[in-house]
Amino acid sequence: MLTYFGLHALQHRGQEGAGIACADDRDIVCRKGCGLLTEVFHSGNLEDLQGHSCIGHVRYATAGGSELENVQPLVARSFLGSVAVVHNGQIVNAPELRRELEERGSIFRGTSDSEIILHLIQGGSGSLLEKITAACRCLEGAFSFLILTEKNLYAIRDKYGIRPLSIGRTSSGNWCVSSETCAFSVINASFVRDVEPGEIVKFTQSGAESHFYTEDCDHRLCSMEYIYFSRPDSTLEGRSVHAVRKESGRMLARQENAHEFADIVVGVPDSSLSAAMGYSEESGLPQEMGLIKNKYTGRTFIQPTQKLRDLGVQMKLSANQPVVKGKRIVLIDDSIVRGTTSRRIISLLRTAGAKEIHVRIAAPEMKYPCFYGVDTSTRRELASANYPTEELCRKLGADSLRFLTEEQLRTACGGAHFCQACFSGNYVTPLYSYKKALEKA
Ligand code: SF4
Repeated sequence: MLTYFGLHALQHRGQEGAGIACADDRDIVCRKGCGLLTEVFHSGNLEDLQGHSCIGHVRYATAGGSELENVQPLVARSFLGSVAVVHNGQIVNAPELRRELEERGSIFRGTSDSEIILHLIQGGSGSLLEKITAACRCLEGAFSFLILTEKNLYAIRDKYGIRPLSIGRTSSGNWCVSSETCAFSVINASFVRDVEPGEIVKFTQSGAESHFYTEDCDHRLCSMEYIYFSRPDSTLEGRSVHAVRKESGRMLARQENAHEFADIVVGVPDSSLSAAMGYSEESGLPQEMGLIKNKYTGRTFIQPTQKLRDLGVQMKLSANQPVVKGKRIVLIDDSIVRGTTSRRIISLLRTAGAKEIHVRIAAPEMKYPCFYGVDTSTRRELASANYPTEELCRKLGADSLRFLTEEQLRTACGGAHFCQACFSGNYVTPLYSYKKALEKA
């Protein structure tokens, strides 16, 4: 049940599938399905998921489709025992590795890149830790893995720490590992520490052991985790997501005198509300609830097709007419990806009578696709890759448009190193065959 509640707190990270696998010393039992966690699990099918350790996953597909065979955990069974894996991120040399593995006789069940780790482990030699270490050395890209065997649990983070992974502990002493710390509070667990880039933490009945699969490590956490992905009550590598977003909003406000051109600040719920708060506090303009979110629809960006995303925006947001009518608005949003959501929101506010709409984005211009687990697709689809700011502003129907600079984002995040490749094009790793896709796009 703890895994179920933890996953519930992480539902914002993926809504296409959910699954839980449990180990009980003799076997691994796995249950999964397509859809939201509450659609896949109910009291009737949770009760028999018992064991000393469990892993769970909510799926957001970036490599491989949304079909059931790609929903995680993925489980491999052999005469050596069962192994289950969950993966957050994207392996950029997956097509090359898959071809090599298939040539050597591996048969893949699905199309997701995550299955590769299971085949690499199965083809390895030595202890399981040695097999995992060797497998990780073959992988390039973003990966936070949990690997469950009948006896032990392993938590692994790629050598750049592109995706987050944190360790917590419940009051009764049970270890827990999560992509975000917001899952710990739900199960009354306390944050212990982050899994370090390049680290393999092995949890056994007697404790936690730390190993590294490489010494060539760096900290390059995805900056979009702060901007968009993570919940504001999570802390990533020691920084509160809410505090980073608020500081981004403050920085946007410092660039201009908002009193000269606006009456109120409106944040796009939910992920832009912290930045709107920062802008409001810095500028002195009141923050108003100009947009209302229907909480029972999913996130539009994390939906697999444009048609679903368009429908999602329509169902999700409404303009609060009494608040916005006749007002000059500073509209704070966390990012512009394809521009369709922003255009729709601006149109909603205009229809509700807003006099002027000045869009401020709490992120730099997104000009390059992500190959590390965020589905921003090709350059052709990215609004900022195709239009200069002025032209994009006109296309969106806004009165003005400004973005945060990369330097400001770095400062808001505390000045440390981050991946900012979708803004700069400076990718943290080689891209292998994805480079061709980038050149063609
Ligand atoms: S490219 Fe962008 S979205 Fe992808 S990992 Fe880097 S910062 Fe995050």
